[in-house]
Amino acid sequence: MAEKEVLNEEEKEPQAKMIPVFIMGQKYEVPEGSTILNAIEYAGYQLKKGVGCREGFCGACATVYRLPGDYKLRGGLACQTVVQPGMYLTQIPFTPAQKAIYDIDEVKPDISTFQKFYPEVFRCLGCNACTKVCPQELKVMDYIQAIMRGDIELAADLSFDCIMCGLCTMRCPAEMAQYNIALLARRLYGKYMMPKPEFVYKRIEEIEQGKYEKEFEEIMSLSKEELEKRYTERDINFDIT
Ligand code: SF4
Ligand code: SF4
Repeated sequence: MAEKEVLNEEEKEPQAKMIPVFIMGQKYEVPEGSTILNAIEYAGYQLKKGVGCREGFCGACATVYRLPGDYKLRGGLACQTVVQPGMYLTQIPFTPAQKAIYDIDEVKPDISTFQKFYPEVFRCLGCNACTKVCPQELKVMDYIQAIMRGDIELAADLSFDCIMCGLCTMRCPAEMAQYNIALLARRLYGKYMMPKPEFVYKRIEEIEQGKYEKEFEEIMSLSKEELEKRYTERDINFDIT
């Protein structure tokens, strides 16, 4: 009997080690190794804002935290950042931020557009706090300073992977919303400066002339399974010239 009890003990799933964290000021014990997002849900919170794709792409789960004995206020995405013992954290489900309204067809792709819609850009102090907090490890200060020089192409390139989490904006002493400013740079670049994708226009023309009607009809007649098979087995041609 005693032996059986010992065996049952051994068969049990190993229990996760629990660590203390403080979520919005309240202490909870959560499994070690959890992401902040999982820890918040483990503690009983139901997230309706401040959560999205759970994979680090949507930027919805910006979180700020401090670690014991560390003066720094740190930031990260709740779905990607692992909890640490004694962590104090709170989520930032939304960042109030200035977003200019403009008609992209009516604005010029130069520095005057930023002077008009986002004059706060020119208050940048060069402190680099934005770059340090960016969970995407973007050179946020560099893209802002590219905009200050009128280098829209560089700003568009450096900010390309921005997920608009808002953490840079929360730290900026010049009180600008870097991500909305960068969005304007990317829109200007895409509309006015990027080389035109001639192959796309050519393909649209061919579609309009009915060149692919037969293929479309064939695809429309396929079952879901056949479509999935066709999709997974397709050739991907990265040559877009
Ligand atoms: S640039 Fe700002 S808004 Fe964009 S991902 Fe980095 S911290 Fe988030
Ligand atoms: S946090 Fe603001 S002021 Fe500091 S470098 Fe970034 S944009 Fe400039």
